[in-house]
Amino acid sequence: MSATAVAAPKVRAAGVRKSYGNLEVLKGIDLTVDQGEVLCLIGPSGSGKSTFLRCINHLEAIDSGRLWVGDTTVGYEQRGNKLYELSDKEICRQRTEVGMVFQHFNLFPHMTVLENLMEAPIRVLKQPRRQVRERALGLLAQVGLAEKAGSYPKSLSGGQQQRVAIARALCMQPSLMLFDEPTSALDPELVGDVLAVMRNLAETGMTMIVVTHEIGFARDVADRVAFFDGGQIVEVGPAADVITHPQQQRTREFLAAVR
Ligand code: ADP
Ligand code: MG
Repeated sequence: MSATAVAAPKVRAAGVRKSYGNLEVLKGIDLTVDQGEVLCLIGPSGSGKSTFLRCINHLEAIDSGRLWVGDTTVGYEQRGNKLYELSDKEICRQRTEVGMVFQHFNLFPHMTVLENLMEAPIRVLKQPRRQVRERALGLLAQVGLAEKAGSYPKSLSGGQQQRVAIARALCMQPSLMLFDEPTSALDPELVGDVLAVMRNLAETGMTMIVVTHEIGFARDVADRVAFFDGGQIVEVGPAADVITHPQQQRTREFLAAVR
């Protein structure tokens, strides 16, 4: 990108609200994430972090407000001054541009590691097998698992499975990666390798939104950190500021509790 070019934000949320029955889980989220930015979402359990990620990836519909990924409104599209719900086909297309990694890796157990990576690009994107295979092998090398291409998921450690899940998401060539507590289910000694893969990915310029309790990772890797509490963003700013000098009492209490 030239120094004068200003890229549009990758994600924009404006007044996003979401309820489950009487429970309002997102109470007006305003947030932008720039191209190439790494944003970490921190906050207590039940504060709406996962729901927000799920809305970005069309896994949940929002009730009001607006949400865009790139130039496209999530769930709706604007024609003139009217909003239309997107067709399922358009939602599927948009979803292919967003990679998601969950706490539980959800690899296909009956497929090898390499087959796990190749499945969606071949089936969903209809890309040629040879091209997908080459990319998949490159990604396995990138996450340090080239030698596991022919292994089945159950023979891998949790940390290795999660690195496969990251490579599988990347094999779809997404322009945005969402991570929902990717290391929370791992034994402590396996966390570092997964965080290292995510750190390297951040350095390639990938736009990333990461829900995590790894405060050290957030401080070192994130450009900005947003603190969620009770369905709202209580505080958002440069990682060093929010983590080292939080302005809000609730942020201070949360950080004291998780460290
Ligand atoms: P977090 O990821 O910050 O822990 P979540 O977004 O998972 O929070 O959940 C926010 C609130 O929404 C919680 O009270 C949770 O119980 C509730 N919730 C999440 N998903 C559903 C659902 N599908 N149906 C009903 N309630 C839900
Ligand atoms: Mg969650």
